[in-house]
Amino acid sequence: MSEPTLAQVDPEIHALIEQERHRQSDALRLIASENYASRAVQEASGSCLNNKYSEGYAEKRYYQGQAVIDAVETLARTRIERLFGADHANVQPYSGSPANLAVYLAFMKPGDKTMGLGLAAGGHLTHGHGVSITGKYFEAIQYGVRESDHRIDMDEVARLAREHRPKLIWCGTTAYSRVIDYDAFAEIAREVGAVLVADIAHISGLVAAGAHPSPVGKAEVVSSTTHKTLRGPRGGMILCDAAHAKKIDRAVFPGLQGGPHNSQIAALAVAAHEASTDAFRAYAKQVVDNARALAEGLASRGIALVAGGTDTHLILADLTPKDVPGKPAAVALERAGIVVNYNSVPFDKRKPFDPSGIRLGTPALTSRGMKEDEMRRVAGWIADVIEGVEDEALHARIAGEVKDLCASFPAPGLLLD
Ligand SMILES: *Cc1c(COP(=O)(O)O)cnc(C)c1O
Repeated sequence: MSEPTLAQVDPEIHALIEQERHRQSDALRLIASENYASRAVQEASGSCLNNKYSEGYAEKRYYQGQAVIDAVETLARTRIERLFGADHANVQPYSGSPANLAVYLAFMKPGDKTMGLGLAAGGHLTHGHGVSITGKYFEAIQYGVRESDHRIDMDEVARLAREHRPKLIWCGTTAYSRVIDYDAFAEIAREVGAVLVADIAHISGLVAAGAHPSPVGKAEVVSSTTHKTLRGPRGGMILCDAAHAKKIDRAVFPGLQGGPHNSQIAALAVAAHEASTDAFRAYAKQVVDNARALAEGLASRGIALVAGGTDTHLILADLTPKDVPGKPAAVALERAGIVVNYNSVPFDKRKPFDPSGIRLGTPALTSRGMKEDEMRRVAGWIADVIEGVEDEALHARIAGEVKDLCASFPAPGLLLD
């Protein structure tokens, strides 16, 4: 008798996964950190490599039976190194946050100073926020954006760096729509003797494809997730100059983690393979073109854009001029089949759990093959919903139109017939 399927063993979980599969198919997923991983990536991440323990690195493991695992990890590492033009890659971090924690461990002692972009200005928790281990175990200095144009204030970065002389300077964002000036950061880091870490979690797919400038060669260390614009499995990675390779590897294992997640590493190798194609380069360029078209559509309907627009996959919209807070807007949009997250805007007068803005991103829609025409339609729907947050009949009508549009652009990796 053959082994029972998931549906037979656990009908409850099976039904929930089916429900989520249909939600991902029928909705417009505009959460900037989300995407669709391909069927090939998912096959690797659901594979029997899950069963193997392999603490250590290729040719230096603690258990036997590693011939296949060594080959898989070496392929993943060398493909990532080639894709980003980096001296060295560590592909073992379980996710973006552990990757960043390993970077701290490699260069810092508890109580040492670190500097990063504040959460309210678009930075990540792991760049030294007070609730994060990175703000509790280290002395964190936070820089921000200018009130006039919402761009990172490089004068403030230079002033704070000279005043505090941090060991690490982080540049990288989670809710910021403009290009990062890696040259300017590198110059400041060099002047104060800090290690510059570029966290490209959101934009690594754009960087790999040349749709955003690369920090490689400018920041000595680059950290990232693998599941956002890169379209890989959930995971993390660290790229670095040859001089830091040993330190980074030791920080990841044995410093922070135990056994690597080998199925995830195999899936990252697949994603790196996919990301090295012309099709992926066209995809990444379209992600940015789509974000611009979506931003223009929203602006034409009187929605304020933080930093005046976008150079990336991401848009931060300030709904203050529309007199609608971000949270009710996000809830109404979900009723209309459009999924976003509410988000603080720089210098927000409202609280983080009830902020003034919404964050939108085009990676997932672009993975379905949508282009500028579709973005203009989506912008119109979003503006209609924001102007009619209470109008549930309107939301239901738009949800129907959204479902029709989605049916014409099947999403990769969902394996729907
Ligand atoms: C998403 C993100 C992370 C964290 O990644 P997880 O995989 O969620 O731990 C780190 N840094 C930045 C800038 C991010 O956007």
